[in-house]
Amino acid sequence: MSYAEFYRRSIETPEAFWAEQAELIDWKTPPSQILDTTRAPFVNWFAGGTTNLCHNAVDRHLAARGDQPALIAVSTETGTERSYSFKELHAEVQRVAASLMELGVGKGDRVLIYMPMIPEAAFTMLACARLGAIHCVVFGGFASASLASRIEDATPKVVVSADAGSRGGKVIAYKPLLDEAIRLSTHKPDAVLLFDRGLAPMDLSKGRDHLAAPLVEKHRDAQVPCTWMDATDISYTIYTSGTTGRPKGVQRDTGGYAVALAASMKHIFDGRAGETYFSTSDIGWVVGHSYIVYGPLIAGMATLMYEGLPTQGLDRQPDGGIWWRLVEKYKVTVMFSAPTAVRVLKKQDPALLKKYDLSSLRALFLAGEPLDEPTARWISEGLGVPIIDNYWQTESGWPILTVANGVETTRSKFGSPGVPMYGYKVKILHESTGEELTAPNEKGVVVIEGPTPPGFMQTVWRDDERFVNTYWKTVPGKLVYSTFDWGIRDEDGYYYILGRTDDVINVAGHRLGTREIEESISGHAKVAEVAVVGVADALKGQVAMAFVVPKDGAVLGDAQAALALEGEVMKQVADQLGALARPARVHFVGALPKTRSGKLLRRAIQAVCEGRDPGDLTTIEDPGALQQIRQTLSPRG
Ligand code: AMP
Repeated sequence: MSYAEFYRRSIETPEAFWAEQAELIDWKTPPSQILDTTRAPFVNWFAGGTTNLCHNAVDRHLAARGDQPALIAVSTETGTERSYSFKELHAEVQRVAASLMELGVGKGDRVLIYMPMIPEAAFTMLACARLGAIHCVVFGGFASASLASRIEDATPKVVVSADAGSRGGKVIAYKPLLDEAIRLSTHKPDAVLLFDRGLAPMDLSKGRDHLAAPLVEKHRDAQVPCTWMDATDISYTIYTSGTTGRPKGVQRDTGGYAVALAASMKHIFDGRAGETYFSTSDIGWVVGHSYIVYGPLIAGMATLMYEGLPTQGLDRQPDGGIWWRLVEKYKVTVMFSAPTAVRVLKKQDPALLKKYDLSSLRALFLAGEPLDEPTARWISEGLGVPIIDNYWQTESGWPILTVANGVETTRSKFGSPGVPMYGYKVKILHESTGEELTAPNEKGVVVIEGPTPPGFMQTVWRDDERFVNTYWKTVPGKLVYSTFDWGIRDEDGYYYILGRTDDVINVAGHRLGTREIEESISGHAKVAEVAVVGVADALKGQVAMAFVVPKDGAVLGDAQAALALEGEVMKQVADQLGALARPARVHFVGALPKTRSGKLLRRAIQAVCEGRDPGDLTTIEDPGALQQIRQTLSPRG
C-alpha cells in the first residue's frame, strides 16, 4: 500500500485503521470501543480493553525468545557492559516489583524515578508498569529545585534513586540533591529506594530510606503477575517545560500508548524482533520512555542502554568511535540519536566511521531539534544509510512528522523532518487570524486537529483545565492543538520546523523553559531583574543567555565584580535546576527592554543576540535598553 493511501485511511476511517493496529499488541480483554471523542479535545482510545505495558514488553516474548537479549546495558562511565535476556529481564523486573510492593506501592500510586542510565532504572519503570503504578521519571541531570517541583506535583508514594550518576568521569552524587528536593517539597514520600553503585557515599534517613540490594535479594524468586489495566488507565507522567515556571505533567494512557509504539516500531522505525535497537537518549526524556524502554521491547528487540559520552571508550579513554564499535558488536539495525550528538562526533576523526563494520545498520533516526543540512549530509555520507529526521514532542509520545519507510520507502529531504504521520491531522495556521495557510511555504503555527492519535498525551496531570487552555485554546475560535512551533509546508507536502513560538528553548535537544531559568536567577539576592533568551549555537543548537539588572548598579562599571556575580548566578542555576540550564553567559545591564505594559521583549533581545533585526519596536518603553544589550554583546562590552 502506498503511504498516501495508508495515511488517508488513518484520517478517514480512524476506527478501522487503529483497530487493525491494536492487533500488534496483546490484550487481556480486547477493546469494545476503538475511539471515543465525546469529551473532545479529550480522547479515549480502546475503551473496554485491558492490557499491560510490561506484559507486552517482557512476558509476551518469553515463549518465543526468552533466551535472546532484551536489554544490553553499556556504561563507559563505570566501564561495564551487561546483557539481560528476556527471561532475565522478567526476573529482574519482578524482583523490583516485589520490592516496591513491600514499600506499599500498588495500582495508581506514583513512583518518582530519579536515576542514571543504569539497567535498574529500566527494571523500575517496567516494574511500575507491571503493578499499574504511575511512574514519573525525572532526568538525572536536573538538580534539587527542579526535582522538588516535580515531587510536589506528582506526590509520589515512593522515590527510587541511586547514589550517583557520572558524566565524563565526573561523579554527580544524587542523594544530597534528592534529600534537598524532599526537604524543599511540602509532599514527603513514604519511602525512598536506593540503588548503590558504589560511586558516592549515602546518608540514609532511618525509616524512610531503603537500600535496594537487600530488598531485591529478598525477592529473588518473586513472581509478580501483571496487573491488567484499562486501556485508558494512566501509565506514566513526564514533566516538560512550557511558558510558565511550573513544569507540566504530560499524562499518558496505557493501551493507546502500547498500540502507538508497536505501530511506530513497524511502520516508522522498521525494527524487527530479534534485532538490536540503540537509542542514545536518556530515560529522563520522552525518547527514553518510548524508544529506549517500551518501543523496542514491545517489538521484541534488544534495547541498548548507554551511559556515557559519545567520545569515551569502555576503558574510559577517549574514543570517538565508541558508538560505532557498539553498532558493530551488537549488530544494531536501528539507531536513534540527536543532531547535537552528531555535531559532537563531527569533530572526531572521520576515519572512525570507516573503522567498524556497520553493515547491520539500516537507518539512523535523529530528533529533538532541527537537523541542519551540513550535519545531515556529513553523517549520511559517513554511514551510508538513510538519516531519518523525525519531529515530535513530549506531548505526542511518538513522531508527528517523518517518513514511514516501513509502509513505503519515501524520499527524505534535507532540512525537513518529513510528512504528517498516520493519525495526525497537521495544519499550518496564521498566528493571529487562525486561518489555515494552504499555499506552499507560508509561515504559520504548526497545529494538530483532533482527535489526536493513540499515544498522544491524555491531559496535564491533575489539571484538565490547563491542558485545554494551554494547548487547545491558542487559536481564536478554533479547538486545535498547538505545537508551539513555527513551520512551513512545501509544494510536495514536506514540513519544515522553524523554531518555537513560545519561550521554550532547546539546548542540545533538551527542552528548557526560559521562565524556569529566570525564576532561579531572580532568586539571587543581588539580582533585581532578569531576562533569559535562547541564542543560536553551532554545537548545541541553542544556549541560554541571561541579561541581569543588578541591585547594585556599581557592578555595571566594575569588570571584576561583574565576573564574580556572573559566576555566582551560573552556579545558582546549576545547583537549582541542573548544569543543562546554566546560561552560557550572564550579561549585566542597567535596564531590560519592555513594552509599555511591562512585558519583557524576549524576542527582540534574542534577535539582537543573533545579529538579526529585532522587528517592530513601536511598543518598546525604552529603546535605550536594547541599545545597551547591543553594546554589552559587542567585543568591547
Ligand atoms: P521535547 O518535548 O523535549 O521533545 O521538545 C519538543 C520540541 O523540540 C518541539 O516542539 C520542537 O521545537 C523541537 N523538535 C523536536 N524534534 C525536532 C525536529 N526533528 N526538528 C525540529 N525541531 C524539533
